[in-house]
Amino acid sequence: MNVQNIMTNLEAKHPGENEFLQAVREVLESIEEVYNQHPEFEKAKIVERMVEPDRVFTFRVAWVDDNGDVQTNLGYRVQFNGAIGPYKGGLRFHKAVNLSMLKFLGFEQTFKNALTTLPMGGGKGGSDFDPVGKSDAEIMRFCQAFMWELWQNIGPDTDVPAGDVGVGGREIGYMYGMYKKLAREYNTGVLTGKGSTWGGSILRPEATGFGALYFTEHLLHKAGKDIKGLTIALSGFGNVAWGAATKATELGAKVVAISGPDGVCEIPGGITKEMIDYMLEMRASNRNKVEDMATKFPAATKFTAGKKAWSVKCDIALPCAFQNELNEADAKELIANGTWCCCEVSNMGCTPEAIHAFQTNGILFAPGKAVNAGGVATSGLEMTQNAAHISWSAKEVDDKLHFIMESIHEACVKYGTQPDGKIDYVKGANIAGFMKVAQAMLEQGVC
Ligand code: GLU
Repeated sequence: MNVQNIMTNLEAKHPGENEFLQAVREVLESIEEVYNQHPEFEKAKIVERMVEPDRVFTFRVAWVDDNGDVQTNLGYRVQFNGAIGPYKGGLRFHKAVNLSMLKFLGFEQTFKNALTTLPMGGGKGGSDFDPVGKSDAEIMRFCQAFMWELWQNIGPDTDVPAGDVGVGGREIGYMYGMYKKLAREYNTGVLTGKGSTWGGSILRPEATGFGALYFTEHLLHKAGKDIKGLTIALSGFGNVAWGAATKATELGAKVVAISGPDGVCEIPGGITKEMIDYMLEMRASNRNKVEDMATKFPAATKFTAGKKAWSVKCDIALPCAFQNELNEADAKELIANGTWCCCEVSNMGCTPEAIHAFQTNGILFAPGKAVNAGGVATSGLEMTQNAAHISWSAKEVDDKLHFIMESIHEACVKYGTQPDGKIDYVKGANIAGFMKVAQAMLEQGVC
């Protein structure tokens, strides 16, 4: 394989799909050396096939807003790679959603799901619907209209969507309600992230953030460090940031900053239980403003408009919001302020230049597809419970999540340990995920 040739071809075929091309380049550069040691991969054109989705559905979503006006959005489902199991991955509702974004997410999901040890292929979907400022009734009508189109393309053994940015328990509930009506199927396994009384797994809401902190603990232990007493700055205040803040605090770390599109909220004394609970209200309000935290807890916080969490002094940075939310300048600012570890919790949260800055400055860095895999892994556990019509306790799910995050960390160490003994977690995660999917594709012939 010649990465540049493949990228030139792909850029010509998919011009302007910048996030997708960025995600592909990162994986190909990581796996190039290993790939070229396997002539059977080259012969079967594994990479050329792997960079194209199995199929993509696009559709119109028309709905009526509270004023009685008709709104039209775009809907998508990208079934990226089904080599190791049914397509699995979230739905993103955000005004910036387009095909490039969902292809990048579906591509990443394929390797992430392979890392979880569970048999799940990679998929992703969503819409350019903007939940900010929408009423609950508008969210419901949109979700129903979205499912009206999607339902025929999903199923517990074909494609199982879940949440992502802009899609949480409320949205999954509205979509599942509509799915049941349309399909006349009562199989809860068609979506994950459901409510706990109707097939949802206990701990799924917390799982991405909890899993990220379990991974971070393993990475720190490997480096001879302990999380207790360390300061953490994280971005976002949605479901993922909430889970991460909860577990970080429980493990004895101090979350000193959270952020939103409007700015950063510094919490010098560390985030409290009341503040963590308030994050849930902030998300449900659909206002998308972190300033609300500072307004609610004025004595313990300081809001600065237009600044990111990366301007705050901390030991560990945890991007928990959106792709490319931490750029080279941010990385340099963190490094200058003494940050020595960054675990990417969002999907592709750091730009390639930021990752390069971290790695060349000896900062411990781990990529999203390893760090945040606990979310989809717990979705996989939810599918298992649904298929068996059983429900596990929080402890059972948490134990399994612990085991999975430890296995992912071990896989990164196995494939990412360099001749000098250092661990390149980007390479480790990409090679481990790739090898599993590539082997499956090889064994299944040309299809
Ligand atoms: N959206 C999450 C992710 O990026 C979870 C997907 C799922 O649970 O299927 O992995």
